[in-house]
Amino acid sequence: MSTPFTSASIRAQFPILQTSSRGKPLVYLDNASTTQKPQVVIDALVEYYEKTNANIHRGVHYLSEKATVEYEGAREKIQLFLNAEESREIIFTRGTTEAINLVASTYGRANVGAGDEIIVSELEHHSNIVPWQILCEEKNATLRVIPVNDAGELRLDEYEKLLSERTKIVAVNYVSNALGTINPVAEIIQKAHAVGARVLIDGAQSSSHLPVDVQKLDCDFYTLSGHKIYGPTGIGVLYGKAELLEKMPPYQGGGDMISHVSWERTAWNVLPYKFEAGTPHIEGAIGLGVAIDWVNEIGLENIAVHESELLTAATSAAREIEGFQLFGEAREKASVLSFTLSGAHPSDIGMILDSQGVAIRSGHHCAQPLMDRFGVPATARASFAIYNTLEEVEVFISALKKAREFLN
Ligand code: PMP
Repeated sequence: MSTPFTSASIRAQFPILQTSSRGKPLVYLDNASTTQKPQVVIDALVEYYEKTNANIHRGVHYLSEKATVEYEGAREKIQLFLNAEESREIIFTRGTTEAINLVASTYGRANVGAGDEIIVSELEHHSNIVPWQILCEEKNATLRVIPVNDAGELRLDEYEKLLSERTKIVAVNYVSNALGTINPVAEIIQKAHAVGARVLIDGAQSSSHLPVDVQKLDCDFYTLSGHKIYGPTGIGVLYGKAELLEKMPPYQGGGDMISHVSWERTAWNVLPYKFEAGTPHIEGAIGLGVAIDWVNEIGLENIAVHESELLTAATSAAREIEGFQLFGEAREKASVLSFTLSGAHPSDIGMILDSQGVAIRSGHHCAQPLMDRFGVPATARASFAIYNTLEEVEVFISALKKAREFLN
């Protein structure tokens, strides 16, 4: 690989990659669903319970202070990772899904009214569709959809036609989990701002592949999920511009999100705590901070170069297989290979590959409207991460050839 790190040295850091699956060496190609965790992240979780465990913010004792410092330290790492102006703009959530629901329920409820419009795209994950549908239903607002072309790229000409003074929110992903398309979000944001709309970027898939600078992008909200960037599950991030977060009502009520409670009047805490009700996923946040250190050490640019090499090799070899159909041929694309084999159901392909130790995903990828657009109920999807190798691509291709023979 073309990074200063060898595949072997990276793979050695992932205990799960040393295991077998169905009696064969595990070839894990379901990274768009979730990534595996390096030893440093696993160690951070164990170490937290062995040496730190205490509730944060509320205690004066040693462990509580230690846990608080580590938790808040993770927030600062994420601030730097996204280049947010201030750490109070980083809200810990359960993941992207919760981050989007938070924005829809607070900013959305407060700012969207009857006759207003919200724009999403045909490429969205259900997490970036359903919260807006719920909001539109409640407020008598309308959801508009940017279509994609046959390559799976957003039709920016159509987007421009959808924008108007009625548009209040534009919510699109940076990278599509189903097709791998990398969207021109800077342009999308700038055009939305020109009509006074706010923009949420779903960064669930981009955060582990592309460097993101939220100030440069000028997005109003950005989300990420820890488990897709080599970190723990159950932890994620909402970035929001402080001026917006300040004005938004709280999402959930409970401990930590208040500065004072009385029967007469309850006052909210300052940012970011206003949006972090209850005991958070403390070790998850700390583990995410460690995962981000790990990614920074390798470098997102190096990760992108390596993954693109794997994608190119897999795509050209797969194209040689009879009946192979690729979904997603965007010029700008992350490491996702979404496909069907003629006459074969994607779940059968997935099962045959699984029997050979190769883990891929089959299904609608939580993007049913996109599947409808392409006229298929499902696709098979291989998605690559930094620890995958060209040898694994070969195993995948030969497993796919076996599936082809078997399904013939
Ligand atoms: N958006 C996209 C583009 C995704 O790929 C995913 C996860 N597959 C989500 C949102 C939801 O993320 P999570 O399940 O971590 O909340």
